[in-house]
Amino acid sequence: MNVTAGLVDFHCHLDLYPDHAAAVRDAEAAGVFTLAVTTTPRAWPRNQELAQHTKYVRAALGLHPQLVAERESEIELWERHLAETRYVGEVGLDAGPRFFKSLDAQRRVFQHVLQRCAQAGGKIITVHSIRSAKSILDLVEAYLPPGRGKIVLHWFTGTKSEARRAVELGCYFSINAGMLGNERHAPLVQTIPLDRMLTETDGPFTRTGDRPSQPTDVASVVEALGHLHHLPVADVASHIRDNLRALVGKE
Ligand code: MN
Repeated sequence: MNVTAGLVDFHCHLDLYPDHAAAVRDAEAAGVFTLAVTTTPRAWPRNQELAQHTKYVRAALGLHPQLVAERESEIELWERHLAETRYVGEVGLDAGPRFFKSLDAQRRVFQHVLQRCAQAGGKIITVHSIRSAKSILDLVEAYLPPGRGKIVLHWFTGTKSEARRAVELGCYFSINAGMLGNERHAPLVQTIPLDRMLTETDGPFTRTGDRPSQPTDVASVVEALGHLHHLPVADVASHIRDNLRALVGKE
C-alpha cells in the first residue's frame, strides 16, 4: 500500500504541469484524491476527458478571477458546461494590487457563478479569496442559500472573525503548506474546526523543496496539521478523508 494513498489534494492545477496526462496518471497511481481545478472553461473538456476514467481525480470547471479582466465573456462557455460537472473552480475574487481594477467584473462573474450553482444545486465550489474574504462571504450569503451548494475556501487568508463567519455559513477550507509555514496564517488555521478542513497543494504554483508541488506533497500538510493540533498524522489523514466524504456525499 502506497503511503500517500487516501490523502486529499482538493486544489491542484494538473493542466499547468509540463505533462498534463502524466500529472493525472501520477495522482491516480498515488491514490491521492485530487481536484483538478481549471482557470478557463476552455480547459474543461480536456481536463474532464483525462479525469473521467480515474478513481481519484476529478475535474472542476473554473474561470479564475485573475483572468476575468480579459476573459469575462467566457462566462457563457462556463455556463454551457456547468451541467457536466459537480465541481466548480477555480472561481472567486482577487483584490490584490494587480487585479484590483477588474474587481467589478470579477464580482459580476462570481455572483453569476453562485446564482447558476444555486439554481443547479449540488455543486462543490473551490474559491479564491485574496484580499476579499468579506466580499466573498457577502456574495455567498446573498446568492448561495444553505443546501444549494458547498463552498471550499482555498488558501484562505482572512481574519479570525471572517473564518468564524465562513464556518457559520457552512464553508470548508482547503489548507496548504504555505498557510502553515506563515506566522500570520498558521494561528488562523488553528481556529478552523477540524471537521471543516481539507488539504491542498495549489500546485504547480507552490513549491516543495526546489520543485513545483505535486498532489503527493499534501503529505507534508497533513504532517504539519498533526503538529498544530497535537494529533497523530494518521488521525489527521483520516479526519480529512472523512471530511471529503461528508463534503461530496455520494457521487
Ligand atoms: Mn489555484
